[in-house]
Amino acid sequence: MNRARNKRQARSVKYVFVTGGVMSSLGKGIAAASLGLLLESRGLSIAVQKLDPYINVDPGTMNPYEHGEVFVTDDGAETDLDLGHYQRFTKAVLTRASNFTSGTVYDSVISKEREGKFLGKTVQVIPHITDEIKSRIKALGESGSDVVIVEIGGTVGDIESLPFLEAVRQIRSEVGRENCIFIHLTYVPYASAAGEFKTKPTQHSVKEMLKIGIQPDLLICRTRSLIPDNVKERIALFCNVETASVISGRDADSIYEVPLILHNEGLDEMVVSHLNIWTGKPNLSRWRKMFESINRARTTVTIAVVGKYVGHSDAYKSLHEALVHAAMANRCKADIRYVDSENIKSEDSALLKGADGVLIPGGFGERGCEGKIKAAARARKRGIPFFGICLGMQMAVVEFARNVCGMKKANTGEFAPDSPHLVIDFMEEQKNIKKMGGTMRVGAYPCVVSSGTFARKAYGKARISERHRHRLEFNNNYEERLVSAGLIISGRSPDSSLVEIVEVAGHPWFVGCQFHPEFLSTPLSPHPLFRDFIAAALKSGKSK
Ligand code: GLN
Repeated sequence: MNRARNKRQARSVKYVFVTGGVMSSLGKGIAAASLGLLLESRGLSIAVQKLDPYINVDPGTMNPYEHGEVFVTDDGAETDLDLGHYQRFTKAVLTRASNFTSGTVYDSVISKEREGKFLGKTVQVIPHITDEIKSRIKALGESGSDVVIVEIGGTVGDIESLPFLEAVRQIRSEVGRENCIFIHLTYVPYASAAGEFKTKPTQHSVKEMLKIGIQPDLLICRTRSLIPDNVKERIALFCNVETASVISGRDADSIYEVPLILHNEGLDEMVVSHLNIWTGKPNLSRWRKMFESINRARTTVTIAVVGKYVGHSDAYKSLHEALVHAAMANRCKADIRYVDSENIKSEDSALLKGADGVLIPGGFGERGCEGKIKAAARARKRGIPFFGICLGMQMAVVEFARNVCGMKKANTGEFAPDSPHLVIDFMEEQKNIKKMGGTMRVGAYPCVVSSGTFARKAYGKARISERHRHRLEFNNNYEERLVSAGLIISGRSPDSSLVEIVEVAGHPWFVGCQFHPEFLSTPLSPHPLFRDFIAAALKSGKSK
């Protein structure tokens, strides 16, 4: 009976739009992902989308310092890092359609105009830009999911986000109240001097929304601790919502606690009630168990992440989370030490002392690469567990060629095209393509893992699929020299033409992969390579 009713209800897709006010960095992405998880735990299927108001067509060309990590989907889209939160919290399938920017929207409207598709009409923000936005949102609505969660980037009041907000305002009038709700994230500061929570910024932010014709149905108030009922009542009164629709999203030590906090505050209950969806109670037991295991961990493993963008906490977001998941799988905590590779001047660098494992993440550009090579040399020679990802793998191969095979000037075609030994190089067909963005191997590719290797032990199977984002590849002309000196090639493309994983023989755990395994790691299913890297680091830490 329940299921039948559920099915009937799910026939018309429901939309949840998540906006933000007062200031940025309130955690809209985590809130949207948490809601996705809560709805899934009630048996609903969800789709998610992130709309970004900037003009870049995608974040692929943006500096990670500007924008944080570029998240990659299976179908090869370079997207906003919030998609990483959706991947880690939900089962939603993420594709090219899961993220679009103002740039994408204008690009397609202008192309249509050039093709004469507007039949001589004046092309305007309303209705042409807003129609394009609506059609992209509605296309996801037709994907068969029960609920589509759409997060709108930026802060209400920004000039850039206006067309997006206008588009979703129109969707609400088209699909009706029962099929569409607005959740607005705001900030409720605590004024220590006065000893009280201040609701004024929230009131102003909701007024901004009202000015453009959107009355939020639910407010998630970001606070340092749970807000008392009288403050909720005040917010409800001034913002024209029910008191039960004022949810306090208090600060959490772990992002994995957020769905549990929001559930306790009644978020999912309110959402299904506003949308008139009948579901049973959510089953959060696996998630809760996972979260509780974080606090039970007693041992700590210290990992040095030797990279370039160490000053920006979001630049290695998925990588950071994958290490956290792997630590959970090993019942320990990860002490993740970000080390600027430019500051590593020798293998004995004090910055690497005490690290139980060394990880070199992906990256672009030459700055700091010699420091990365030194870090890889230290790990290889001293038997410290090592994990090289993409550029990290490439640097490990360069180090091996230089210090084990005696090719002193070995390098990659990216930094030193004139080197006599380009052990990492552009593929022939890419050499002449200079255009940014268009030449990369991006998205999921299959890989065959050889038996008897660290990688095979981790995956437990031969056929895997992993996401890539790079231009250069291992140069097969050097395979024989490197392999005869002890480099193991443990993963290749199915046609054997591309080297995907390398290892060092006789080392406790030394793995470099050309792909980015961090994009597939989730707290409920930690990535096997990260899991085994942490296990090896833990072992090496104990034996010190
Ligand atoms: N810069 C290297 C390449 O393009 C590595 C890229 C990466 O680490 N994502 O191949």
